[in-house]
Amino acid sequence: MERSTGIQTYQCYIDGAWVEPATGAYFESDDPFTSRVWAKIPRCGADDVDRAVAAANKALTAGDWATMHPTQRARLLNRFADILEREADHLARVEVQDNGKLYAEMRAQTGYMPQWYRYFAGLCDKIEGAVIPIDKPDMFTYTTHVPVGVVAAITPWNSPLLLTTWKLAPALAAGCTVVLKPSEFTSASTLEFCKLAHEAGFPPGVINAVTGFGAEAGAPLTEHRDVHKVAFTGGDASGRHIARSAMNTFKRLTLELGGKSAQLVFPDVDVESAARGVCSGIFAATGQTCIAGSRVLVHESIHDAFVEAFLDLARTARIGDPMDAGTQVGPVTTQPQFEKILASIAMARDEGAECVLGGGPSERPECGDGRFIDPTVFTGVENSMKIAQQEVFGPVLSVIKFREEDEAYHMANDTDYGLAAGVWTKDQGRMFRAAKALRAGNIWTNCYRAVSYMVPFGGFKASGIGRESGQEALYEYLETKSVWMDYGPGPANPFILR
Ligand code: NAD
Repeated sequence: MERSTGIQTYQCYIDGAWVEPATGAYFESDDPFTSRVWAKIPRCGADDVDRAVAAANKALTAGDWATMHPTQRARLLNRFADILEREADHLARVEVQDNGKLYAEMRAQTGYMPQWYRYFAGLCDKIEGAVIPIDKPDMFTYTTHVPVGVVAAITPWNSPLLLTTWKLAPALAAGCTVVLKPSEFTSASTLEFCKLAHEAGFPPGVINAVTGFGAEAGAPLTEHRDVHKVAFTGGDASGRHIARSAMNTFKRLTLELGGKSAQLVFPDVDVESAARGVCSGIFAATGQTCIAGSRVLVHESIHDAFVEAFLDLARTARIGDPMDAGTQVGPVTTQPQFEKILASIAMARDEGAECVLGGGPSERPECGDGRFIDPTVFTGVENSMKIAQQEVFGPVLSVIKFREEDEAYHMANDTDYGLAAGVWTKDQGRMFRAAKALRAGNIWTNCYRAVSYMVPFGGFKASGIGRESGQEALYEYLETKSVWMDYGPGPANPFILR
């Protein structure tokens, strides 16, 4: 698979135009496999944010978008979906070059993405209020749902366009306008994506993109008084900071944060097939996914057999160029993340966990100049250890033994997070018991990492606030307005509550 050569210089997208950042400054983005700089990205700051937010407010309150009927909005979203489908391969290659994830994974994501726009297009003209049969004489009362306003959509580096789409599709369906702020590590795909939004014909100001660093471009957005909602995906430390800042102006908030998701393997499973499933939950995407099933809780009676089957499989994982269709584990996207994973591995060793696979940078020739870490497995892990409690966001699996079913649920829930859980069992009763007992937003039984535009996604506890995808997501971008109409002779007593 080809990667683009030379250096691309991008501009930011504000009010329907490609513009230089006000600072005139650019920063570099490298390819995680070759470690070569391939793109120059505008280093936006507060002035660019001001321009983008003003454009988004103008589009929200006057002009084609503000007056567009929901049926027409749906048509526009469908047109955008068609263009995205046409360009899915191009977008996937840009993603791979910028974030180093597997082409196979990114192509599947960009190929699936248009469905979000089609699904939410279908909901545009079904945003219905209610007539409330109010128990007061001569009064007519109804509700309507109106766009929440200007949305700041702030995204991380691991799946830039899919996570942008999870915010943008419902926001547009609701009639909002949006300022996108992609990760400083992976901004190029969002700017390529904006070219396609422009082609689709969204009026100026409906979609804007400012790029740059969290403190310089992200913070002015979350602090801006004319931004009405922040939809954020990223780490819980940034999430906490952003939530506090958004609360200063009482913005609406959706947070999709990290996780320390458990995969529970019960004694009735076919050990090899469970090992394959658990592997897909941790080494796919090099573990750089919020839903990584990074703790596997295995019943003590099958622990040794499971570990053996898992290691047999993990040893065969093909590491290398993410652009190659046969590669199964790619590089780590960013240098800070590479260092963080190595620090987590050292921490697990210090805590007394036994490293039975990997445990350091991969030096194989097929890794080129990339930042690779060998798939790593620790056994002898206690759930109270930091390696079992802290998100690694890399290819590192902790294996923990359990004896009783309830003990497994307790350990799975005994973490600050609550994003996902995997359950591997053939016992139908246990499937339902587990789904009820586990405190996580997404429970997968005999499968892992399944997502859909139709199904709400989000976390409990430190894994976030609110839901993306599914019909629920639309209401994250709407405000409810209650309307009262008195058609009687007027209040008999003006001094009491009507
Ligand atoms: P990050 O929190 O460092 O950055 C995410 C985004 O926030 C970036 O665009 C960054 O520039 C911006 N940002 C950082 N500080 C900011 C500030 N003070 N104000 C405004 N914006 C700011 O996260 P990351 O390292 O890019 O991504 C990895 C994290 O994302 C992991 O913890 C992972 O679990 C999480 N994640 C969660 C989900 C989910 O859906 N729950 C999905 C993917 C990734």
